Amino acid sequence: MSKPRYRRVIVKLSGEALSGGNGFGIDQGTLDRLADDIAAAAKLGVELGVVVGGGNIFRGVEVSEKGVSRPVGDSMGMLATVMNCLALEEAVERAGAPARTLSALAMPAVCETYNRKRALKNLGKGRVVLLAAGTGNPFFTTDTTAVLRAAELGAKAVLKATNVDGVYNADPRKDPKAKRYDKLTHREAIEQDLRVMDATAFALARENHMPIIVFSIAEKGAIAAVLSGKGRATFVG
Ligand code: UDP
Repeated sequence: MSKPRYRRVIVKLSGEALSGGNGFGIDQGTLDRLADDIAAAAKLGVELGVVVGGGNIFRGVEVSEKGVSRPVGDSMGMLATVMNCLALEEAVERAGAPARTLSALAMPAVCETYNRKRALKNLGKGRVVLLAAGTGNPFFTTDTTAVLRAAELGAKAVLKATNVDGVYNADPRKDPKAKRYDKLTHREAIEQDLRVMDATAFALARENHMPIIVFSIAEKGAIAAVLSGKGRATFVG
């Protein structure tokens, strides 16, 4: 494997990626496969922060449509991300890489609380840092969290894992003529309305000149492949 392109990155995994096609909950086989990928990437010597979503358990907007207030729904969503991170932390350690969950919402009986210095210290010790509870605030997403943490922790890119191998101008699973991009600028993505991430996350990435690398997590070893510049991905930056 060639030398990794980045020294420190943030990987964004959606909650759905953990559900293994069920759409809900955590599929153990899928979790172990993702953990193997993360451990393999960490073994390249790259400092890895991983932001995990919670959509496989709760999404604030969805529960708020059923009568729960949005801030409470979002708190439930953030707690869902903590559950995902705890499951992934153990799986990454089983896969042979040390890992630590840091939560933006304080819950000291469960895991350590996130702060920038603590995150940097853990990254410096070669631990995979699982960034739980999003930003700790309602009305945000874990995509925004990934860009925010990347900026504040001095990461060189956000690796956004999806079901497809990059950014397309239409859904390639529905439209066989969908055009795939190898490379885009932030401005082109906005002008062509390509929706790489939600608007808040994307605005933050653009303002901070943070590259977003969109790749498919379906292939084994995908994270390490992207870090070595080998995997298929769209580079937005
Ligand atoms: N969430 C939040 N603040 C944050 C990040 C997440 O309130 O900073 C809540 C929000 O309700 C969101 C849920 O957590 O719907 C799960 O996160 P997200 O939808 O980003 O997960 P994904 O779609 O990536 O699985």
